[in-house]
Amino acid sequence: MVKLLEGKRPSDKIKYQVAKEVKKLDVKPKLSVIMVGNNPASEVYVALKHKSCKEVGMTSDEYHLPENTTQEELEKLITKLNTNPAVSGILVQLPLPKNLKTSRIMSLINPAKDVDGFNPVNIGLLTIGDKCLEACTPKGIMLLLEENKIPVEGMHAVLVGKSLIVGKPLMQMLLNRNATVTVCHSKTRDLKSLTSKADILVTAVGKAGLIKSDMVKEGAVVIDVGFSRIPDASTQLGYRIAGDVDFENVKHKCSWITPNPGGVGPMTVAVLLQNTLKAYLMQGGR
Ligand code: NAP
Repeated sequence: MVKLLEGKRPSDKIKYQVAKEVKKLDVKPKLSVIMVGNNPASEVYVALKHKSCKEVGMTSDEYHLPENTTQEELEKLITKLNTNPAVSGILVQLPLPKNLKTSRIMSLINPAKDVDGFNPVNIGLLTIGDKCLEACTPKGIMLLLEENKIPVEGMHAVLVGKSLIVGKPLMQMLLNRNATVTVCHSKTRDLKSLTSKADILVTAVGKAGLIKSDMVKEGAVVIDVGFSRIPDASTQLGYRIAGDVDFENVKHKCSWITPNPGGVGPMTVAVLLQNTLKAYLMQGGR
């Protein structure tokens, strides 16, 4: 029978543990969030991050910069936060406006404050399997597997999506746990022939219904990271949220499947809080 890989309980458990640690600290960890422009989806995510920090007793502040911010202005702010001892973690909300060089910005964040795990130092440490700040969504997926005692070693994991945010760091985390990993993307030929071989299938594309029943192996573990807004006049918001997986038709074939929403999303936020505490401790509790 299919089991749901729900994120609520394990993410609450992580938040509870973080809150317990934070309570013991005289000076609380602080997350500084930088947002450039007025992307409505980003505004929702940023608000959720502030709310979550508050829930676990951490502080947070926000630098909301205008759309026309220059590379130089953004770099100057990051340099200032890098050396501010009151700031434990720095998060630059993505995507950035097109005139800004995201990779340069990620490289500039102090690796010890890089709570998103996108700085090349942290990516390199992850690659060699050393202690580092790890990207939140893939780390959340690994914790979801661990929490439900789903074995990874020796399994064939197929990832659909190779972004720096999800696919690439997840590939490394799975390899570090001795899975055999195949990474697919928009230029992959015959996606179905690969996804249908997966013991663990993770999809992070953002195309609703991309993964259909005939693309999934019987008994597979299916993790749906995708997030799309589908216009739907019958809902209060005028849209509904959908993942990449055709959930209703795929679920019967799976041993485990994430609901979406309610699977990976809560884990991402919980790992961000965990990373902020870790960053604080790595900097000697400042
Ligand atoms: P992204 O940077 O746009 O990457 C999308 C990936 O999908 C790319 O690697 C792309 O291939 C691949 N792709 C596009 N069309 C494809 C197709 N037809 N077949 C196979 N692969 C295809 O996106 P992202 O930032 O990784 O996010 C992916 C999705 O996950 C989005 O819906 C996002 O909202 C969601 N997300 C959710 C969370 C969460 O916490 N719940 C966190 C992060 C992201 P190329 O590389 O060849 O272009």
